[in-house]
Amino acid sequence: MSFKVYLANTRGMCAGVERAIKTVNVALEKYGSNRVYVLHEVVHNFHVVNELRQKGAHFVESLSEVPSGSVLIFSAHGVGLDTVRKAQDLGFAVIDATCPLVARIHKKMNKAGAAGTDAVVIGHQGHQEVVGTIGQYTGDPDKVHVILTAKDVQKLELKGTRAVFATQTTLSVDETAETVRALKERFPFIEGPLRDDTCFATQHRQSAIKALAAVCDLILVAGSANSSNSNRLREVAEKAGCKAYLVEDSSKIDPNWLKDAKAVGLSAGASVPEYVVDEILSHLKGHGMTAVEGIGESATVKSFALPAGLQQD
Ligand code: SF4
Repeated sequence: MSFKVYLANTRGMCAGVERAIKTVNVALEKYGSNRVYVLHEVVHNFHVVNELRQKGAHFVESLSEVPSGSVLIFSAHGVGLDTVRKAQDLGFAVIDATCPLVARIHKKMNKAGAAGTDAVVIGHQGHQEVVGTIGQYTGDPDKVHVILTAKDVQKLELKGTRAVFATQTTLSVDETAETVRALKERFPFIEGPLRDDTCFATQHRQSAIKALAAVCDLILVAGSANSSNSNRLREVAEKAGCKAYLVEDSSKIDPNWLKDAKAVGLSAGASVPEYVVDEILSHLKGHGMTAVEGIGESATVKSFALPAGLQQD
């Protein structure tokens, strides 16, 4: 067994995820571990959540689990307006770690709700980000529609003659383009972004994985099973004709996958810490890796300011 590893130079944590993790860390320093609660996983990564839990953060799925007097952090995926209001009514000190790129979509939904315009959200039904996005629509609930594929567009019934669309930020760029095309064809009056709302991190990581697929016969994507953007990376690699697996870390790598591989690609989803990539690389070193080569350009590193109330000098 001997293979070379090609490492996607654009991989791993995005600015929104870094900000959300830093938010929890700074809140822990400022308020102490007993008081800091996070509604849902702050980002969809097992290692990140585990590390923060060990530092004292509490992760809950419902506001009823949060004791009074707590500091409550909303995850990077965002929440709906009813959750914001309930949290305020319960008197929690709320810190909103919603990624600013998701918050931008929330504003569009607020506007559509206030105007009574139909709103079409392209995304995965039930995903935390989509739940938060549709929860930002304040109008008639029958006027908010969640779809995913171009096929779904054909079944869509709008209630009025004005409509806007928005998308989940972590979708497949190519599949979303097809859905948006079908949407604009069927409803030429629909308003929305020029292309879609997939974020720069999603776009750059998907382009990078296509470059990996062009030179590899196997791709490993580091990421958790519930991470939307990590799953999309694996799918994009497979669509580009390369066998691909999503792995939490090296413990999930099946040695049989590597048996006949000559060129193994490695990337990581936007919520994955770099130490997971390092750990996988050192595992591969002990299992036949002969060399590592970076592929593609490194995307410009962006950063977002911390939420109000936590900003540091
Ligand atoms: S994947 Fe995109 S939208 Fe999601 S947290 Fe990262 S930058 Fe924000």
